[in-house]
Amino acid sequence: MSRDFSDAQARLLDLKQEYQDRIEKIEDHIYNPQDDLNEHWDDQAISMRDNEMRKTLLLEAKQSLNYVNDALSRIENGTYGECTVCGEDIEDKRLQAVPYASLCMQHAS
Ligand SMILES: [Zn+2]
Repeated sequence: MSRDFSDAQARLLDLKQEYQDRIEKIEDHIYNPQDDLNEHWDDQAISMRDNEMRKTLLLEAKQSLNYVNDALSRIENGTYGECTVCGEDIEDKRLQAVPYASLCMQHAS
């Protein structure tokens, strides 16, 4: 019996949209710093530190987006919900908490 992942898929698509929006916003801040310079013209150190922070956030968002895209393609090819290490079903509770989880609880820890 195959499991129904339509809820998970809907949540993943929401997450995907959310991360894409976030990435777009952060990139806009990084590559169009004029706005910031107007706000923080008197303290460039703060502005630079903000950019470092934004780059970290950007990397995180991109990584999360990768996880989400991976999970979506696993739904497509029917391997979603299986641990990529042991091949066992990932616990439902875990998938609800982390819809893009690719490891069972045992292998995630
Ligand atoms: Zn496992």
